[in-house]
Formats: sequence, C-alpha cells, structure tokens
Amino acid sequence: MKHPRPFLAFSIRRYSKDVSEKTLSKSHQVTSPLNFLLGRRTEAKGPSSFHLIAPATGTKLRDVVNSNEQDVNEAILAARNSYRSWSKWTGFERGKVLKTAADIIRSKVDDLAYTEVLDTGKPIWEARYDILGCADTIEFYGGVAGRIKGDFMQLSGGSFAYTIREPLGVVGGIGAWNFPFQMAAWKSAPALACGNTMVFKPSQVTPLTAVMLGEIYQQAGLPGGCYNVVQGEGETGQILCSHPDIDKVTFTGSVPTGSRIMAACAKDIKHVTLELGGKSPLVIFSDADLDNAVKGAILANFSNQGQVCSNGTRVFVEESVAGEFLAKLIDRVEKMKIGDPYQEDTLIGATISPQQAAIVEDYIGIAKKEGATVVYGGERVTLSDSNCAGGIYLRPCILVNCTDNMRVVKEEIFGPVLSLLTFKSEDEVIARANDSQFGLAGGVFTRDLQRAHRFVAAMEVGSIYVNNYNVYPVGVPFGGYKKSGIGRENGEDSLDYYSQIKSVYFEGGNVDCPY
Ligand code: NAD
Repeated sequence: MKHPRPFLAFSIRRYSKDVSEKTLSKSHQVTSPLNFLLGRRTEAKGPSSFHLIAPATGTKLRDVVNSNEQDVNEAILAARNSYRSWSKWTGFERGKVLKTAADIIRSKVDDLAYTEVLDTGKPIWEARYDILGCADTIEFYGGVAGRIKGDFMQLSGGSFAYTIREPLGVVGGIGAWNFPFQMAAWKSAPALACGNTMVFKPSQVTPLTAVMLGEIYQQAGLPGGCYNVVQGEGETGQILCSHPDIDKVTFTGSVPTGSRIMAACAKDIKHVTLELGGKSPLVIFSDADLDNAVKGAILANFSNQGQVCSNGTRVFVEESVAGEFLAKLIDRVEKMKIGDPYQEDTLIGATISPQQAAIVEDYIGIAKKEGATVVYGGERVTLSDSNCAGGIYLRPCILVNCTDNMRVVKEEIFGPVLSLLTFKSEDEVIARANDSQFGLAGGVFTRDLQRAHRFVAAMEVGSIYVNNYNVYPVGVPFGGYKKSGIGRENGEDSLDYYSQIKSVYFEGGNVDCPY
C-alpha cells in the first residue's frame, strides 16, 4: 500500500524481519543505561524513577531513573568543556561529522524505527519515515555548516566593518513525546552545525532513541561531551533550563510548560526557542479539488494518532460543499486500518498513554454536551491481536454541528478529533480562522490563485499549506506565531537561533573626535 508522504526522496521499503515487542523489550536499547555523557551510556543517580510503558501493549518495559542536579551538572560541565574545542572546528569539519551521522542513521533505520515504535506506539512505516527525514535534516545541516559566515560592510575613508557569526555556547534541549527522535535531531543538528554543544532531555514518555542518536554521533566522529542526554521528568527539565551555565534553551512542548521555561530563562537572560501547541485552521473552498482536500484533512488530523502540533483540527468547509466533503471524508477514514503498529499496513496505532486517551475522550464528551454531534468514531477499538490488549486504540473522531466558541474548537486536544465547521464567505472564514490564541499553522484548499495568495497574506500563522497539509520538506523553516512559540526550527533560518553576531569595526584613518 502507498503511504501519503509526497516528500519522500526514496520509495518506502518493506521489512519482513520478525521483530516482536517481546524481543525488542529485551534488546539493549531498553535494558542499557539511558543517560549519555562524554560519549557513552551512563545511569542517572536518581533517587526517583518512573515507569516506561510501551503504548502498543500497555506493558512496562523498565524503570527509568530521574536525573538529579548532579547528573545535570555533570552533563553541562561535559558540554562546556567540549565546547572549547568543538566551537574552534571549522564549519566544514563539523559538517563532515553531521553528514556521516546522517549516513549511519540510514544504515540503522530498522533498529531506530522499531525502537521508536516501542516508545510511541506509532505505525512502523511512519516511524521509518520520521527517522529517514531526520537523516535528511542532519545531512542538510552538514551541508550548511561549512557556509555559516558573517558579512562585510565597506565604510568611508578606508574604514570597514564585518560580522562574525559565533555559537552561543551550551544549549539545553527539551523534547515532547510525539516525535522523539525528530526532536533530538532537529535541535541538535543546527546547534552542532553552529559550533554549540548540547545537553538534551527527551520526554520522560519516550526516552529511548535520543540516546541512540548520541551513539550515532559518537560513531560519526563527534567528540565526547558535545551531545549529552539526561533522562527525567519535568523537574529534571527545570534544573536544566534554570542552570546558569546553559546559554540557550530550545524547547518543544505545551504552552504552559513553555511559559514556565521562558520564566526560568528570564533570570539569566538566556536565549530561548519555543515550539509550542496549536489549534490550526484548514479552510476548504467550494472550488477546491475535494478529493485532495479530503486527503489534506486526513493528513491534518489523523497521522500519528492525531498527536501532531501543527494539525489542522478546525476544518472550515464552504457550506455548499460541506455534505459532499463529509461523505468523502468518512468514506476514506473508514478504510484506515487501526492495528498493531508493527504491522506494515497499520495506519493508526496506539495512543501514547491512558492519560492522553482520557484527555481526548473527555473533550469528545464536552463537545457532545456543548451541542456537537459525533458523526464518526471517537470510541476505543479492541484489537483482535491479544498482544495489543493493553494498548489504547482510538478510532478517529469526526465532529459536526460545531461552533467557534466550543472548547473542542478553541483548545488543543492533541488527539484524533476533527471539528467540522462551515462558512459562507472568504472574509468571514479568514476572521474565524485567525480567531485563536495559537498561530502554528494553517491550510487552504482552493483552485483560485488570487484567493490563495490573499489567504496566505491574511493568516496569522508560522506555516501555511496551500492545497496540501503537514508536509515538512527539509530546509523549510517551522515555528509559531502568537502563543505557538518563538523562533524557528529547520532550514537555514534556524541558524539565527543557534548563533550570535559579533560586529567588528576597523578604522582606516585618524580618530575623528569632537572632544
Ligand atoms: P509537555 O509540555 O508536557 O512536556 C514537554 C517536555 O517538557 C517534557 O520533556 C517534559 O518532561 C518537560 N517539562 C515539563 N515540565 C517542565 C518544566 N517545568 N521545566 C522544564 N521542562 C519541563 O508537552 P508534551 O505533553 O510532552 O507534548 C505535547 C505538547 O507539545 C503539545 O502541546 C504539542 O502541541 C506540543 N508540540 C509542539 C511542537 C512544535 O513544534 N510546535 C511539536 C510537537 C509537540
């Protein structure tokens, strides 16, 4: 079966390897220490710990020790010491390490993808796609590293000025659980390309693959201490971003946590990048190709079990085609196989945790109380495969009779819940689409070129998709307007957020002084 990923630069491969969760959970990826310090795995000192659960089966894989202040201090010290030499490497030399790491990732895609599924419960083909996309991202920054440069300005009288783009120092990275390997890669690759070093804390829910990335960097020739991993819950993250020897924090997660992190960074005036939540609009005009619009709406709502920050969960459809659109949408969603994420034809895997499933189900309940109607899905599915009995599998939910002031339409759910709204005019829908505290992404389906441009200009969002949704080609910046965040990841623009400019003035004549 063909998976809907237009920017795949390679065909999706199939693996006949019989890797069950049982064999994986005994693999060294799970049983080995999960912190990464000075180029090798180490165990955190604790004393507290938390359970690591495989979402696909609900089984406990192991306990993970929370990194304490001493663990974080050691990781930051390692990164600081390594920074002194790494920041002196030329960009070209740093780029070679990144390009080698990208090749190693491709050669280990099976191992990485299977481990990512163990952590997240997402379908295997999706995990493989994510991992290979990360290889591309790291290779991209490998190419960019050698071209990082300043500027030159000719001044009068033989004077001139130039700028030097310098790294910031030690970067603290904190990730969310929906794309664990991607978080580590998207943050570390531009940071390392610019000459920074990093201490990364993955989400406590998905700790496994960030450490694997450390081993890959090590194998690629990154000096020990340049990329370190500390595992832990929010408290470990707080210790990391409050540490005085961290120069910048790059965070992906929810708005409330982002706000706390920004406050912690304010004390030392640290640089901060925040990639936060969203409640993005997807607008479908009556002149759109409806089959493509339906595909866009599915990409905008139901990939990764709906757990995607940029999802276009407010689907505005022009009134005259709303019935036809809904019928086509349900017809397509009905055919999406919900199942064991390790099976290649599964399109919807497990929800990350019982807590997240409860949030999704609560929102569906609230929507019904507020007057919305569930026309499709929303319930738990019991899989015939008994291995998956402990996992939570939610059928994608489509809500109609929604209004803009319903909580389900205003608040981020982070699950597979699509709210269908109708509209009559372009001005009306632009105003309604922008009426949000978030501004991460948005989409429009129309064949009218001028309307598409008007729409792009009017939308208050960081990314806008015209006649597609949720595609992330390498090299295109990503980030939010409004409460969806500060800064950009991906693309050359992200270099601005991992470096600082030193301006140098050279006098070519005598000092002109009025005193
Ligand atoms: P979260 O905010 O609960 O946690 C994110 C990370 O922050 C975790 O590693 C957690 O341990 C850590 N953390 C928690 N409290 C902390 C504190 N006080 N100080 C420092 N670190 C702390 O988010 P989540 O549930 O893991 O992820 C879901 C959210 O992430 C959603 O809102 C989603 O939209 C957002 N997200 C955004 C993007 C983006 O690029 N904009 C991408 C993916 C996810």
